[in-house]
Amino acid sequence: MKKVIVIGGGAAGMMAAVWAARGGADVTIFEKNEKLGKKIFITGKGRGNVTNASDIDVIFDSICSNKKFMYSSLYGFTNDDAIKFFNELGLSTKIERGNRVFPTSDHAYDITAALTRELKRLGAEIKLFTEVKKLIITGDTCDGVVTADGKRHIADAVVIATGGLSYQSTGSTGDGYKFAESVGMNVTECSPSLVPFECKEKFVMQMQGLSLKNTGLELRDGKKVLYSDFGEMLFTHFGVSGPMILSASARVARKYFAKNLTLHLDLKPALSDEQLDSRLIREFEENNKKEFRNSLNKLFPSKMIPVIIEKSGIDQYKRCSQISHEERIRLKELIKDFTMTVTGLRGYNEAIITKGGVSVKDIDPSTMESKKCHGLYFAGETLDIDCLTGGFNLQIAWSTGAAAGRAITES
Ligand SMILES: Cc1cc2nc3c(=O)[nH]c(=O)nc-3n(C[C@H](O)[C@H](O)[C@H](O)COP(=O)(O)OP(=O)(O)OC[C@H]3O[C@@H](n4cnc5c(N)ncnc54)[C@H](O)[C@@H]3O)c2cc1C
Repeated sequence: MKKVIVIGGGAAGMMAAVWAARGGADVTIFEKNEKLGKKIFITGKGRGNVTNASDIDVIFDSICSNKKFMYSSLYGFTNDDAIKFFNELGLSTKIERGNRVFPTSDHAYDITAALTRELKRLGAEIKLFTEVKKLIITGDTCDGVVTADGKRHIADAVVIATGGLSYQSTGSTGDGYKFAESVGMNVTECSPSLVPFECKEKFVMQMQGLSLKNTGLELRDGKKVLYSDFGEMLFTHFGVSGPMILSASARVARKYFAKNLTLHLDLKPALSDEQLDSRLIREFEENNKKEFRNSLNKLFPSKMIPVIIEKSGIDQYKRCSQISHEERIRLKELIKDFTMTVTGLRGYNEAIITKGGVSVKDIDPSTMESKKCHGLYFAGETLDIDCLTGGFNLQIAWSTGAAAGRAITES
């Protein structure tokens, strides 16, 4: 019977362990935390967006780095397979907006509970409070691991599923990168991703808590448009966040964030320049006796009005009937191009995932085995693969975990 050690009892590690055990292996998971799946617990705001029910093409499109590497493992264990897998383990699921799949219970913990039940049924050993410190390497083969208590544990195969660097309190402290480097594998530069932006201007912080819907967005480096989107965003005490911002952080190459970028919002994307001008004329006619500051309620949320007034340069006490053509045009331009300066990204503690990781060039995409060290496998976020939000990152953990677990027992 093959002896398999899985380092890390997160999503990818548990999935790899299940498939290795189903293939007849004697499996042990070493998890340094007091429980399995600590990060799963906080996914989807505690509701666990376990995967996404869109067509497989959409899943591939959501992958920001190394999409091609995922062909084999994602087709080998698709999002549909993941839903079926969890349903068969007794986890009932439902589909929400954007095809996001959640446990019907709305409890992310139920994902871990389902996996734990299966691991126990299969007789896998779960060693909590057990940190792996080192790999045991003989020549170009991994023979096992050394735990923090100094004990050596021999195995035929070792799966590294230690996650990335984000939300380190969940146990993801980048240990997989050190293990990979110790056998001569490359690790690409890591950075926080799916992460908010910091902005320079004080007026941004003045709007903290304000969430905008149906807004157009462009992230630019000078005149070059790096990312454009339409949707929701949020102002915070340091800058901006929300779905569009997180996606932009995942899509735009890191080198650009070394300098100041500009964020341009179209606050009325449904209106053309002419339509917006007509709308402003109408508002000012209807409110012709009111002061400018009291005429904007129908156009902007209240937290934004003082900022719009200040940036427009129009005297807030001016009667609407006295607003000049130039002033109206300036206001229109401000609405169509509300600009902020992005000074950088927030850190790992606010990042949903890590961009970068163990280089996929050093890994066989169908087995997840290292090309540099026999018997050593990788799965999940420790790999240089990252996706958008929507259940896609957990799907990467399920697919790569299943690929590693199956390959070990099939070889
Ligand atoms: C706030 C938040 C919300 C998210 N929401 C979603 C969502 O709704 N949907 C989605 O698809 N993705 C979501 N993600 C991303 C997703 O959670 C991760 O991509 C996924 O959990 C990665 O799984 P993993 O098993 O590779 O790594 P992890 O979940 O990080 O697991 C790694 C495990 O390895 C253990 N470990 C590390 N080093 C060692 C060692 N030396 N010895 C022993 N054990 C070790 C750690 O303690 C940890 O338990 C979210 C992430 C965050 C932070």
